Amino acid sequence: MSKQILRIPDSVMEYAPWSHTKASCALSCPYKFHLQYRVKQKGVGPEAFGQRIGKLVHMILEWVSGRGMSVSHAYTHLVSIVELTHEEETEIQCFRDAIEDYVRGLEVFRKKHGVHKSQVKAEVHLGMRPDFTPTKSKWDKKGFYVGYIDLMLMTPERVGIAIDHKTGVVMSTDTYRAQLESYAVLLQSHHPRINAVQVAVHHVGADSNERGTRTTWFPSFSAREIRTTLRANLIDYLTKAAENVKDRDPCKGWVCAFCDYKPTCPLFG
Ligand code: SF4
Repeated sequence: MSKQILRIPDSVMEYAPWSHTKASCALSCPYKFHLQYRVKQKGVGPEAFGQRIGKLVHMILEWVSGRGMSVSHAYTHLVSIVELTHEEETEIQCFRDAIEDYVRGLEVFRKKHGVHKSQVKAEVHLGMRPDFTPTKSKWDKKGFYVGYIDLMLMTPERVGIAIDHKTGVVMSTDTYRAQLESYAVLLQSHHPRINAVQVAVHHVGADSNERGTRTTWFPSFSAREIRTTLRANLIDYLTKAAENVKDRDPCKGWVCAFCDYKPTCPLFG
């Protein structure tokens, strides 16, 4: 079998290392990308309420799945280290049932698939170089793409599982495709002997479906599919992102509602 060599265009490498957040920013608003990633100017607007809640819920999910904290301990711990407004505390409590369901579901899944506790990892940072080999650390300057995987599991059959928690409204599965496919590529770069990767979105803020779960699974990707199709898809995605930031024009869209550069944006300021 001939080995497929995928070359990363110079236009993409110019802005490396990429992440899904950075690529989304490039595709949605070149002006924001310019401020945040070229000039490295800090946003001045207040953090949107939903974004802050999302970060806090992610912290709790990390503690319960990665550190083995009980849900009640995680809530108490959060209150002890973060100053919360009454509104934030009330909102965080709304996620409690979903988080308890998640912990139960994770334990059932782990036992059913024989996943050892040491193979369950939360908030995993993975980076890779342009030849799709892993970076040595998150500070490796030769990194081309990085990602934080909310939850990662490895089964005894060497199937990698990557799950991303979403606290906002449920969007179509296609909305998450680029991000989750990139996680499959990252996972394979760090585990070259992997047989397949299964990715999923966990909608923490949604009602559970008829199966009693809030997780949407994508079809499994084989190792070969990741090495060929998914790597090529990632390069195409980043090429489009790099192409879009050739200019620096602000671009109005739904992201403006969450943009902390809004106070200085020519379209709003
Ligand atoms: S407010 Fe909208 S148009 Fe302005 S910088 Fe932010 S995302 Fe871009």
